Amino acid sequence: MSASRINAAELDVQELERALEARGRERFHARQLYRWIYRRGVADFDAMTDLSKELRGRLAEELEVITPRVVTDAQSADGTRKFMLELADGRRIEAVFIPDTPAMTFCIPTQVGCAMGCGFCLTGKMGLVRNLTAGEIAGQVRVLAAATGMLDHPFNIVLMGMGEPLHNYDNTMKALRMLHSEHGLAVSPRRVTLSTVGIVPGLKRLAQEPLMPNLAISLHATTDEQRTELVPPNRKYPLAEILETCRRFPLKRRSRITFEYVMLKGVNDSMDDARRLARLLAGIKAKVNLIPLNPAPAIPYERPSDATVDRFAQILADRHLTVSVRKSRGQDIRAACGQLIIEGTGRKSAAQQIAALMP
Ligand code: SF4
Repeated sequence: MSASRINAAELDVQELERALEARGRERFHARQLYRWIYRRGVADFDAMTDLSKELRGRLAEELEVITPRVVTDAQSADGTRKFMLELADGRRIEAVFIPDTPAMTFCIPTQVGCAMGCGFCLTGKMGLVRNLTAGEIAGQVRVLAAATGMLDHPFNIVLMGMGEPLHNYDNTMKALRMLHSEHGLAVSPRRVTLSTVGIVPGLKRLAQEPLMPNLAISLHATTDEQRTELVPPNRKYPLAEILETCRRFPLKRRSRITFEYVMLKGVNDSMDDARRLARLLAGIKAKVNLIPLNPAPAIPYERPSDATVDRFAQILADRHLTVSVRKSRGQDIRAACGQLIIEGTGRKSAAQQIAALMP
């Protein structure tokens, strides 16, 4: 591998055009390369048979396409597949394919580790190792689409699991632009959901984006005191500020903001919590996704009973909120919420949310 080769996986189409032009090549080859890399899952220039042999040889000298390597691909009895991927620096991350939710969904991390420190999440305890690059975020989608036979089919993307996407804003949004390219996978922003703890400056930037994904807010509590304990960034961005930003968030017709609420027995699952939650969301085009905790040995919280979850959901529904209760997927391969593992570090992530959020 030549140190001077450019990693084409980090470039959007315009950047790739400029890189080719700077090397005396025709700009239109960028679109051909995008088709091979994204639509056909091919990263080897020699296999790009609609390019001349001479050009393929020159491209291989000048460019490379760095792609996350699949280390393991574990399949659950329910069809969920958990991929452990290795990045160029040897770091490992996990991405999950969840079929039929109702569409096919890829759950994609945006960071290695996480700086947010949520109380019910072990990833938070490990801290942030590093941001993923745009090419690594989009590369996970390329790998999963190829491995699951979805290159030619529509799929959803949920940016959650390990990491906070708004804490890696520029790389996350660049990855979405790369995935949106009509020359590549042409993923519509309507098929992407970005899940955040509510970093208000990031939400305000997101509100200006031309390619705006669906928004999911990890709320998890109904008072600032409780939420600061569970989701420490709440100290800086309290509930009222997040919800006011949500109220002003430009939504397309018929779209809603999803509010995720992990239910912890005896902590945030009371009927008063449910009533407060309904009041907090008044005036917001909202739907609520209740996530009964997947308990893990090192997490000091328990899962509420099904009856409690049902009563909580009923109170919200009685107040005209759309409510869903997340079903846990892939528990036998530890792909369920809070069960992802980062091997190589020996630590577990409690990426708490991996099921589908799409409308
Ligand atoms: S729950 Fe999400 S945002 Fe919170 S620490 Fe875990 S990975 Fe980070």
